[in-house]
Amino acid sequence: MSSNKRRIAVLGSRSVGKSSLIIQYCQNEFIDSYYPTIESTFAKTVKFKNVEYDVDIIDTAGQDEFSLLNSKHAIGIHGYVLVYSVNSRNSFDMIQIIYDKIISFCGVASIPCVIVGSKSDLEASRQVNSEEGKRLAGENHTAFVETSAKLNENVAKVFEECLEEIEKRVPNNEAE
Ligand code: GDP
Repeated sequence: MSSNKRRIAVLGSRSVGKSSLIIQYCQNEFIDSYYPTIESTFAKTVKFKNVEYDVDIIDTAGQDEFSLLNSKHAIGIHGYVLVYSVNSRNSFDMIQIIYDKIISFCGVASIPCVIVGSKSDLEASRQVNSEEGKRLAGENHTAFVETSAKLNENVAKVFEECLEEIEKRVPNNEAE
């Protein structure tokens, strides 16, 4: 069985739970007050559909409408996880902005991507419903997952969907 390197960048507004999602996935824990992300890379070996992947996950500091996309977030990246939190309309509105920036930075028509509605446990303060998330994903031809890092719900699914989106575009398991 061959080992394949995949690099996934996680983007989205500040405080939507990007680090929590990655830490839950890579280290199986939920840390309630994690320090703000500078920029770090996590590694995990994942067996998905009988293929072993060496996955690097790049955690980013968070973007707003004024941030310029960094080449680190585009060059050598195979797939994207774009995170908003279901209790922040503002973070949801940022997703299309970030998506469009990636598309134009990379000069491509589409990218392997999963749009993620995080903090799905915060039902009482929800501002974005699932249908809106699904619709946005449909319009941009991306996958869509709602997740809770806190309850460890759908966390692995986020990254499996991302690997799946990458594989759709890389027929021979060669992502280099
Ligand atoms: P980042 O800035 O996007 O990396 O966000 P963090 O991972 O640092 O999380 C920001 C805040 O949201 C922290 O206080 C987390 O504990 C909280 N948080 C993250 N994920 C969840 C979740 O799934 N549910 C709830 N209720 N809170 C979360």
